[in-house]
Amino acid sequence: MIDSQSEHYEVVIIGAGPAGSVAAISLARAGKRVLLVEKKAFPRFKVCGCCLNPNALRTLESLDLVKHLRRKDAVDVDQFRLRSHGRQLIVPLPGGMILSRQTMDQTLVDVAVEAGVDFLDRHDATVLPEQTPEADMVFVELNAQAGNTRVISAGHVLVADGLSGSSLKRRPEFQSDVAKSSYYGVSAHLPENSHPLLEPGTIEMAVGRSGYVGCVVLEDGSINYSSAVSPEALRSHDSTGDLIATILQEAGAHLPNELTAVEWQGVPHLTRTRTNFAARRILLLGDATGYVEPFTGEGMAWAAEMGVAAAELLLTAEARSFDVASAWRETVLNLRSRRQVWCRRLSAFLRHSNLVHFGLIFGRLIPSIPTWIVSQLYESHQSVISDEFTDPVALSEKSGHHASSASH
Ligand SMILES: Cc1cc2nc3c(=O)[nH]c(=O)nc-3n(C[C@H](O)[C@H](O)[C@H](O)COP(=O)(O)OP(=O)(O)OC[C@H]3O[C@@H](n4cnc5c(N)ncnc54)[C@H](O)[C@@H]3O)c2cc1C
Repeated sequence: MIDSQSEHYEVVIIGAGPAGSVAAISLARAGKRVLLVEKKAFPRFKVCGCCLNPNALRTLESLDLVKHLRRKDAVDVDQFRLRSHGRQLIVPLPGGMILSRQTMDQTLVDVAVEAGVDFLDRHDATVLPEQTPEADMVFVELNAQAGNTRVISAGHVLVADGLSGSSLKRRPEFQSDVAKSSYYGVSAHLPENSHPLLEPGTIEMAVGRSGYVGCVVLEDGSINYSSAVSPEALRSHDSTGDLIATILQEAGAHLPNELTAVEWQGVPHLTRTRTNFAARRILLLGDATGYVEPFTGEGMAWAAEMGVAAAELLLTAEARSFDVASAWRETVLNLRSRRQVWCRRLSAFLRHSNLVHFGLIFGRLIPSIPTWIVSQLYESHQSVISDEFTDPVALSEKSGHHASSASH
């Protein structure tokens, strides 16, 4: 809980998804005074496929976090099964992990608290407008679900409030744009044995005309269904469960009886872009920087990478004075341009069920092609902060400032 005597933190992090928690853990382990604020009551359900890819695991392992997920019975991924038009293609997919978002996000928060982070759930945070251009702190309003409101201050604020985050509503410079063709995301947990043909460790994806549906067995044996669907199709069906059933039927996938009985949760407009990722003392990370579409397993990998990178940047900036906001903008652009290329290609491909059908036939004939695509997606890399931007001299030359006069 917050010490009511001194409500100032070196870093306030908004949102306890992987981006926020990973940043919080990194900063607290380096001795920073950190507050992690979360709007929902934890542990919370999150619309997600619940699959961590090898890139995500590499980043989590760099902080020694994977062992904590293993202790929660995370399931190892071994294969990917694509279903379309009654056919299937199986691609080996070792190196990933499946864990429900309730368990994973709560586990990371627990590690953060153990590292010294103050965690506050059920609090809606809003970053307040800049007081003066030279202010050396940012103010954040906290609205408790219980009804009380207060304002705290921070040396830096990391905004990791996800796709539908609301914490920047009073900062118009961070407006986000929604792509017109954007799909909606929906998820539900179905009971154990609702899909008896699904083996633990298999990621099954069914592609239909109005979207695609992924399912996996979770750590407790229940089945996580998550899907990206066209908003028009959602409106023309009686319920979300009906639409998911249509997509599964078109693909020739197993049809659980429970689809229309369970509660589906959704998130509108998956494809969003933000052009501004930073301001004085404020950095955006994870889905808050924009998102393409799910099922490429990149969402949590990017979120965790950005969490580590933002923490590294703040710690480096402390030792070597330079323009953090410019460095962060370049870092995010660098990461996005390299990694979103494949996500865009795959999400465009998945929207054409006939193309997927031919791709599936082709992939069965030449299995090295899907394996190569997977290797491109999971390409390893070292750090998202390039040396150029942690070097204050290079940075000041690039931005036209003297490093000593641009300390934040
Ligand atoms: C259908 C679907 C399937 C997906 N499947 C996968 C998958 O299998 N693998 C994968 O890697 N990615 C997947 N993703 C993407 C993944 O869920 C996200 O990329 C990832 O969760 C981003 O992490 P984050 O930390 O940036 O944000 P989030 O995990 O969204 O966390 C943000 C947090 O901020 C909180 N918050 C929001 N506003 C405020 C506020 N004002 N104050 C305080 N707290 C606030 C939210 O409650 C939330 O807990 C999927 C996404 C969708 C929609």
